[in-house]
Amino acid sequence: MAPAPRPVKAAVDGPGVASYRHAMSLAHGRPYLAIPGPSVLPDRVVQAMVRPAPNIYEGELVEITAGIVRDLSAVARTTARAAIYIANGHGMWEAALANVLAPGDRMLVPATGRFGHGWAEVARALGAEVELIDFGRRTALDANRVADALAADKEYRIKAVLAVCVDTATGIRNDVAALRSALDAAGHPALLMADCIASLGCDPFEMDGWGVDVTLAASQKGLMSPPGLGFLWVGERARAARDRLDGVGPYWDWRPRIDPQGFYQHFGGTAPTHHLFALRAALDMIAEEGLEAIWARHATLARAVWAAAETWGAEGPLRLNAPRGHRSHAVTALHLGAGDGERLRRWCAAEGGVTLGLGLGMEVPEDNFRIGHMGHLNAHMVLGALGVIEAGLAALEIPHRAGGVTAAARVCAGAESA
Ligand SMILES: *Cc1c(COP(=O)(O)O)cnc(C)c1O
Repeated sequence: MAPAPRPVKAAVDGPGVASYRHAMSLAHGRPYLAIPGPSVLPDRVVQAMVRPAPNIYEGELVEITAGIVRDLSAVARTTARAAIYIANGHGMWEAALANVLAPGDRMLVPATGRFGHGWAEVARALGAEVELIDFGRRTALDANRVADALAADKEYRIKAVLAVCVDTATGIRNDVAALRSALDAAGHPALLMADCIASLGCDPFEMDGWGVDVTLAASQKGLMSPPGLGFLWVGERARAARDRLDGVGPYWDWRPRIDPQGFYQHFGGTAPTHHLFALRAALDMIAEEGLEAIWARHATLARAVWAAAETWGAEGPLRLNAPRGHRSHAVTALHLGAGDGERLRRWCAAEGGVTLGLGLGMEVPEDNFRIGHMGHLNAHMVLGALGVIEAGLAALEIPHRAGGVTAAARVCAGAESA
């Protein structure tokens, strides 16, 4: 059960105000959804969808699709072409596996936090034998332990290593390139599959540079579009693995989506019309700003969040979950304890108009909260959200050191390199 909010003490700032203050909330204004997906939709993306249904056989929709596929490759930093699905991230977990996995195949899953376990469950349901290495909720995966598991697999029974770039529950960023080094050092032929659903377009990612065989993403996080589109970028080795399978369910088969003979084959049926207009606008925004500038913006805004959290945590219970060096630029998970994560979330929504993420996947979810800082996000949004959190900590009398927002502002000013 959710803990009851503590009563809020607020200043009464003039004669007569006390009599109607009970009806007041400071939340009336533009709301801010600071959860780790779906992320904030840019107005330009919303506007792109406000239009009648287009022809799906010819005209603009057909014409923009080739450019979308090309720009998606640029975002994943690969020459591989994307298969686009009408699905969310869970759909991409299944699609990626459906194209390479025969029942009884072994999958190696080095899991941090929650999402690696989720992908492993899908693999098991599809008939895989899953070898799971659990790194818990506070540490990133250790490529040395993955190397040991690969070295022990003398018969090459492991067909793929399933890795999550950023675990959205814990805010931990894993070193995916180190997994490629482990595979190469072992001379192991397993595919490297990377779930970049939380982090693509936020944290740096280099599909070709890091030797990733299959990359997974979805539309609603760093790609600033509504949930409903999923993407798989498929390298040559993974395409060869698909070709060795006897059969793949026709909807999940990536072959016609990557090399369509007719337009409808891109999507296995009717095109996701308005999602494509939204994505076109989002990819335009990404191209205009530049991917590396976007990475730098996310890095700076993430450091602002960490600076605030470290200041608040200098006195009192607040802790950053992810260890230094493995913190994502897309999402931050924070621990408070005593049900205060949930109390703070409720206060920020009811009194500040900011919706924070819940403590998904943690031992006691109510003790935790998360800040999504992915996609369409600037300094005023981050500093505003942090200001509301600091107000909430004060209002709820949760012990903390004041000045978190000032520390974050210093990072935005370039005055501090956290
Ligand atoms: C959000 C997310 C998913 C699941 O995506 P859905 O669209 O919610 O199905 C999977 N993996 C990661 C890392 C995510 O952040």
